Amino acid sequence: MDDEPAENISGGASGGGAFAPFEPGDAHTRAEAVVDRLGELYWQKTYGGQQAFECLVRTVLSQNTSDKASQPAHDSLMARYGGGALAATLADADQAELAETISSAGLYNQKSETIIRLAQRVVDEYGGADGFDRFVKDEDPETVRGALLDMKGVGPKTADCVLLFSGGRDGVFPVDTHVHRIARRLGIAPPDADHEAVREHLERDVPAEKCGFGHTAMIQFGREYCTARNPACLDDPDACPMGDLCDQVGVYPEAGEVVDPSEGVDG
Ligand code: SF4
Repeated sequence: MDDEPAENISGGASGGGAFAPFEPGDAHTRAEAVVDRLGELYWQKTYGGQQAFECLVRTVLSQNTSDKASQPAHDSLMARYGGGALAATLADADQAELAETISSAGLYNQKSETIIRLAQRVVDEYGGADGFDRFVKDEDPETVRGALLDMKGVGPKTADCVLLFSGGRDGVFPVDTHVHRIARRLGIAPPDADHEAVREHLERDVPAEKCGFGHTAMIQFGREYCTARNPACLDDPDACPMGDLCDQVGVYPEAGEVVDPSEGVDG
C-alpha cells in the first residue's frame, strides 16, 4: 500500500521510500496512537535514499509554500540544470535565470540566491553533490544536522527533511507548519511549544521507525481534516477520524471558532 501523493516533499511513491507495515494497537503513548491511526488512514513506509543535494534543493523550494506549488519548480529546475553535476551547475548558474525557472515556488529571488549559495558551499566543502551525499548518509546524524544548520538558508525543518529523505535516519520527525499546528491541537505537544519543542516531544514519544511517515502522513491529514482555519470537527464532531485521541486545543465547535493552541488555554 502506497497512496502517497507524488507531489509530496518526500517525492511520493518515487521518492525512495519503502513499504514498511507495522502492528497497530500496540501504542505506548498517545502520540504513537495518533501515528498508528495515520498509518491506517494513509501509507506506512520508511524513507531514505534521495540524493542529498537534490533533496536539499527540493526542501528549500518548499519553504513557505505548498508542495503543489513547489513541485513544478523542482521539476523545472531539474529539467534545466539536472542531468550532470547538479551542484557544480547550480553554483555557476545565472541568478535571474534560476529565479525565473523556479518562479512557481514563490519567493523565487530569495530562493534562487539560497540555492546558488548552497551549491557553492557544497562544491567548496564536499567537492560536489556526490561528496555531500556520502557525508549525509555516512556521518553521525547530529554532525550532519549541525553542518546543515550552519548553512545560511537552512533551518531545522530543512535539515531534518534532508536527514530523513536522503539519510533515511529513523527517529527524525521534521516539524512543518501542519505538524506544529496539529500536534498542539491534539495535545500531544504543549500548546505553547515552538517547532523545536514539538519535534522533541514527537521524537521522544513516537518510535523511531514510525517518525518519517508520521511526518508525511500528518501533513496529508492537515490538508484533508485538520486544516488551519476549518478543522473537520468544527461543524461535525464525528467528521474527524482522530476525534477520540484529540484534546481540540484552541478549537471551539460551540462558538464556531479556531485560535492558535497557544491562545487556547488559560494562563
Ligand atoms: S478532532 Fe478536530 S482538532 Fe482534533 S485532529 Fe480532528 S480536526 Fe483536528
